[in-house]
Amino acid sequence: MDKKGMVYLVGAGPGDPELLTIKGKARLKECEVVIYDRLASDYLLDLVPGECEKIYVGKEVGNHGLSQETINEIIVKKALEGKRVVRLKGGDPFVFGRGGEEVLALQKEGIPYQVIPGITSAIAAAAYAGIPVTHRGVSRSFHVIAGHTKDWDNQLADNYETLARLEGTLIFLMGMGNLSLIVNELCRYGKDVNTPVAVVSNATTARQKTVKGTLGTICGAVSVNNIKAPAVIIVGEAAGLEMENTIKGRLYGKRIGVTGTEKLAGKLSRRLGEHGAYVENLSFLYVKEADNRVELEHAITNLKEYTWVVFTSTNGVDIFFKYLKENHIDYRKFCGISFAVVGSGTRDTLLRYGFIADYMPETYTTAALANGLANLLKEGDKVLIPRALKGSGDLTDILDARSVPFTEIKIYTIEIDAEKYKRVTSGLVDYDYITFASASGVEGFYENLGEEIRTILKKTRIVCIGDVTVKKLKDYGIRDYITAGEYSVAGLVESILSDAGK
Ligand code: SAH
Repeated sequence: MDKKGMVYLVGAGPGDPELLTIKGKARLKECEVVIYDRLASDYLLDLVPGECEKIYVGKEVGNHGLSQETINEIIVKKALEGKRVVRLKGGDPFVFGRGGEEVLALQKEGIPYQVIPGITSAIAAAAYAGIPVTHRGVSRSFHVIAGHTKDWDNQLADNYETLARLEGTLIFLMGMGNLSLIVNELCRYGKDVNTPVAVVSNATTARQKTVKGTLGTICGAVSVNNIKAPAVIIVGEAAGLEMENTIKGRLYGKRIGVTGTEKLAGKLSRRLGEHGAYVENLSFLYVKEADNRVELEHAITNLKEYTWVVFTSTNGVDIFFKYLKENHIDYRKFCGISFAVVGSGTRDTLLRYGFIADYMPETYTTAALANGLANLLKEGDKVLIPRALKGSGDLTDILDARSVPFTEIKIYTIEIDAEKYKRVTSGLVDYDYITFASASGVEGFYENLGEEIRTILKKTRIVCIGDVTVKKLKDYGIRDYITAGEYSVAGLVESILSDAGK
């Protein structure tokens, strides 16, 4: 890498993580530093390598954030350390994103850079609200305008006389604080008060809200429906067209919050998204491999003592086999050893390593696994259980009670990313569903929830898998929940589909 590093200005798109470009995703997956604003989706940050340095330079509520100069300095500094830097910006970097100023700062230092455009909210918000920004015979142009700039007389900076005469679609960004001023100016200079207007907030996310009206009615509609920034204001005949998707999926319009470890939440989000749901990934848990490998090393060295290996989670399987690979342990060592799993997800993960599970209980609970396995075992069998630190006590209690010899090894823990948790819970909306796949997920979520958030969640149906998860929900006083019949992502999706179909 050049001593001067490399900076990619990447457009993150408007919110829906699937609206990131393939090129942007590739740069994120290989960067060493990511410098980001407040983004509509945390999912994008989960794409960067684990060791990547993440620097937040956006605005928090009640805090104006860093100045543009300071942000430029940070980007330059990181690049001069020789790093591969992604500067991730909402929408498109050059659409009111101050990307140009960052480029000038890089040019000044002779730092190589590349700009990767993004889908701007100006167009995406319209599209997700069923509005074509141009349409034959209706609108031959569209104009993107900054709605917040005012001159020193507190008047809007642009020439509204000119804007009012344009026949194309007018798209205002950053205009919510000035909505009535914008509307009045346009009318004052001759725009018909019956001109259609749409306001789309949090476009392309689970929080998207759209109101439609006319120049005459929109201010009232916005306040009645409590529409807040960030929002795009679309003015013109095109805003009166209805081109919403007709293929809507069985979960269309449903807002679903997904929790769990990144891998699970990501998979679940995609599946639910395929059914048309607006999904927000609320995952704030991460898998941390245990530092102490002595027990595992000992067990593997003495693998001959064991006849069964039991896995209770996908994570357990992945971490176990990662360890084997890193330590050059040949799979032939497992000759003659049987595998037991709970849940089809775990079974499928094991299969990816070339092993077919010898036993999986019909009901996906660790208690069923323990009892079923104990029934199968013969004299001389011994079980190895590599799993999470806070794994359910059921498994080991039952094996103990049935005098099954076993060794339990804690190979990982599920940890809570406190900062992400804070970001997630500060933006909660009235979800139709929130999903939980583990007791630690429930605990992490409810442990620090304020009363206010609990009230918001009153309308939300809780969906979960696993008896341990259910038990934890009950501990937090949650009585109304749906439990998936099958202990897997597919099971969760199925139970939401069937509930939504009622
Ligand atoms: N570079 C960004 C715009 C930055 S200016 C882009 O290309 O989209 C910030 C403004 O963008 C907000 O005030 C709002 O008007 C708009 N905006 C950004 N994301 C939005 C979203 N998801 N929904 C509605 N408006 C959004």
